[in-house]
Amino acid sequence: MKVLFAAAEAYPLAKVGGLGDVAGSLPKALRSLGHDVRIALPRYGMIRSTKEDLGAFPVRIGGTTQEAHLLTSSIDGVPVYLVDKPDLYDRPKVYEYEDDGQRFGFFCKALLDLLPAADFWPDVIHCNDWHSALTPAFLRTLYAGDERYRAIRTAFTIHNLQHQGLFGRDLFEWTGLPADSWGPEGVEFYGQLNFMKAGIVYADLVNAVSPTYAKEIRTKECGFGLEGLLGSRSSKLSGILNGIDYDVWNPARDAQIPHTYTKSTIDRKAKDKHALQKEAGLPADPKAPLLGMVSRITEQKGLDILLPALPRILELRAQAVILGTGEKKYEDLLAELSKGADNLVAYLKYDEALAHRIYAGSDFFLMPSRFEPCGLGQMISLRYGTVPIVRATGGLVDTVTDVTQDPKKGNGFVFSDYAPEALLDATRRAVEFYRGRRGWKALRQRAMASDFSWNNSAAQYARWYERSRGA
Ligand code: ADP
Repeated sequence: MKVLFAAAEAYPLAKVGGLGDVAGSLPKALRSLGHDVRIALPRYGMIRSTKEDLGAFPVRIGGTTQEAHLLTSSIDGVPVYLVDKPDLYDRPKVYEYEDDGQRFGFFCKALLDLLPAADFWPDVIHCNDWHSALTPAFLRTLYAGDERYRAIRTAFTIHNLQHQGLFGRDLFEWTGLPADSWGPEGVEFYGQLNFMKAGIVYADLVNAVSPTYAKEIRTKECGFGLEGLLGSRSSKLSGILNGIDYDVWNPARDAQIPHTYTKSTIDRKAKDKHALQKEAGLPADPKAPLLGMVSRITEQKGLDILLPALPRILELRAQAVILGTGEKKYEDLLAELSKGADNLVAYLKYDEALAHRIYAGSDFFLMPSRFEPCGLGQMISLRYGTVPIVRATGGLVDTVTDVTQDPKKGNGFVFSDYAPEALLDATRRAVEFYRGRRGWKALRQRAMASDFSWNNSAAQYARWYERSRGA
């Protein structure tokens, strides 16, 4: 199977969040199953090292033909095509520019126009989130008459339905999509162009990043207005759980943590905790339960319940280290809370290496998400024997089992209500369990034994691609 894997991010070339992790690791896992998977990305400012220049290629959009360059790179042996168009992409950040509609609209079109230059004709183009979601619409309409493109199928993965890529009608006209694709059955969403909707409507297959999220997005609560459409496409909507890269996230060999350990040498983890306490300027008390959090600081991640709960959590004689960036109002509140506290440290920045040290050095990992399509933080923390405290939503339901409910299989602490009291209650249970010591080591070892590598999920993706042939 030949697959072009299109995304706005792919670790380590460009990463903002979980999408980057997935795009950096799933293609590698699929290649190890024998599939010819190649990644396509815009060439952003932070991508400095490239391999080959495959030359200029024309991209027809905006009523004109523009020129882009096709460069190559690689991620762990996976070939990467980079769409080089400096006026759009040679900037320090991946997203959040005024012209993101043009930037990613161009990328969606370039994904099809680069194929002759790459001389790569995939069986499937796998698009991910709104940034590559117009490609199926282009393929089905503007390329329908082109013999070279006829056999290509499209698969579309929803990583987060909250961000849909909504733009005005002028952008729709700029894309050059045919006039009859503007309407409720096409790419229009209440008078706007909706990239995400285009992916759902035009792709041959659609999935979401966990089985629970695939169900939740058909409800009003999590559907962000697309629940009706998704409900009507139930037959082509599946859920495949993400995995994490077990080479990148491996406490036995992680070069970014001070002390490596395995399931059988888990006692060494205490040294990572000590090092993290020192680094963060926290009292180096081995008995104080240490809560870690590595997350975007946004409403989605549960900041509305975390912030009111935090002072009371700290009264449990716990310590907390939080790493993240995001919405200013939450960042300011966190900074405020941590200022006077000797047991709370908030690092308001993006820092991969520190993230590794927090995953390794913490006893618990906080993930009180309002909604969570899959979530990687809980999988990474499990891998490091750091017990997750999560809200029962989306992929967190599919990966974390409450140990109070199921003492034999439980690998974390789970609560349901989106309320500070519910988070506090779960944290209290966690801290009591920790202080009780009975079963604590076994719980951590069980956490480490959970398998969220790509082994299972990559095989499911391969079967999913196969299904597109019949679509
Ligand atoms: P999302 O994609 O919604 O942000 P996920 O849990 O799926 O959430 O993935 C988040 C990824 O980004 C994890 O690998 C996490 O460790 C990483 N991450 C988030 N914030 C930071 C940060 N400030 N510094 C380093 N890594 C971060």
